[in-house]
Amino acid sequence: MIYLDNNSTTQTDPAVLDAMAPCWRDQYANPSSLHLAGQSARNAIEHAREQVAALIHAKPRDIIFTSGGTEADNLAILGTLEANSSKRRIVTTGVEHVAVHALCEKLQKQDYDVVFLPTDPDGRLDLAALDAALTPDTALAAVMHANNETGVIFPIEEIAQLATARGIPLHVDAVQSAGKLPIDCSRIPCNTLALSAHKFHGPKGTGALYVAPRAKLRNQLVGGHQERDLRPGTENVPAIVGMGKAAELAANLDPDPWRTVAALRDRLEIEITARLDFSCVIGAGAPRIPNTTLIAFPGLEAEAILIGLSQRELCASSGSACSSGSLEPSHVLRAMGCDPATAKSAIRFSLSKRTTSHEIKAAIEITADVIGRLRKSSN
Ligand code: PLP
Repeated sequence: MIYLDNNSTTQTDPAVLDAMAPCWRDQYANPSSLHLAGQSARNAIEHAREQVAALIHAKPRDIIFTSGGTEADNLAILGTLEANSSKRRIVTTGVEHVAVHALCEKLQKQDYDVVFLPTDPDGRLDLAALDAALTPDTALAAVMHANNETGVIFPIEEIAQLATARGIPLHVDAVQSAGKLPIDCSRIPCNTLALSAHKFHGPKGTGALYVAPRAKLRNQLVGGHQERDLRPGTENVPAIVGMGKAAELAANLDPDPWRTVAALRDRLEIEITARLDFSCVIGAGAPRIPNTTLIAFPGLEAEAILIGLSQRELCASSGSACSSGSLEPSHVLRAMGCDPATAKSAIRFSLSKRTTSHEIKAAIEITADVIGRLRKSSN
């Protein structure tokens, strides 16, 4: 099997599994307990907090563990709005992950004035338009670092400067960039920043929110005093320890494995687009994370392509969402102004640091073959 769906999730690193194992076996006590066993679990969590903080150049005390990227995004957005309740305007982009996009749509129905900024066809954001949207009545701006479908990177440091200059809290969804791009919270003046362990070879169902010291944030779950009162509930010690180990491994970029990944990704898209007429890479003109390519094959449906690839043991994913039995172009591609035929045919290949050149060679052959056959049968 060739697994090129690493933006959906990654394989848990064996070293992460090894780090987690003792937490079930030995460190099973409640980290809030004052006894020796509880303190051992507490120490394991605090070590993981240091490892996660180091990945994004933050202070350990500014890291809050959550159940994943979705919860981190929700806590940041709802918690900031609640702490800043006199203002009702939210500025975001049209290409955010559903964890942000669907929440903002829901808030719109609750009488928030939400601005969804579109991008250009390559997925680039117009910073002058963003700046103009950041009016004094804005309670929050929510902008992602790297896009999960296209891989396009937003200039998050500049965006954070714009928000800060206007005194507007910024939430950054860094779920797809963490572990792939350097992130330095001391250079990104944001209020909050979301991470998810399973995107960088950690366990699923665990994530973290960086909360800047100046940020005003209200807890959304109500209960105990864990995680500085911001995320009550007994901590998932094994998962948190696994996230810490994964963060430590991701932070070690010497030598930089992503250069190799970028070269493999480039080869995949160059060869596929050269061999298959009318195929095109979406977002190719913008800076992108090294592992992602979204390739459209207009005239075909992504679902049929994915089934064909899967039958040949190649796992990829689509930029479309299934609603009422038919594939609808994703909100991301719509916000980029992508025409529906192109959007509905887009396939995302996302590599990992472990993807080999042998796998990419095979993926090119399989894709060319599957698309060729589908085109023949649809003529
Ligand atoms: N934000 C982005 C950009 C993502 O890609 C994802 C997951 O795909 C999430 C948030 C949600 O993260 P999780 O799966 O940990 O809830």
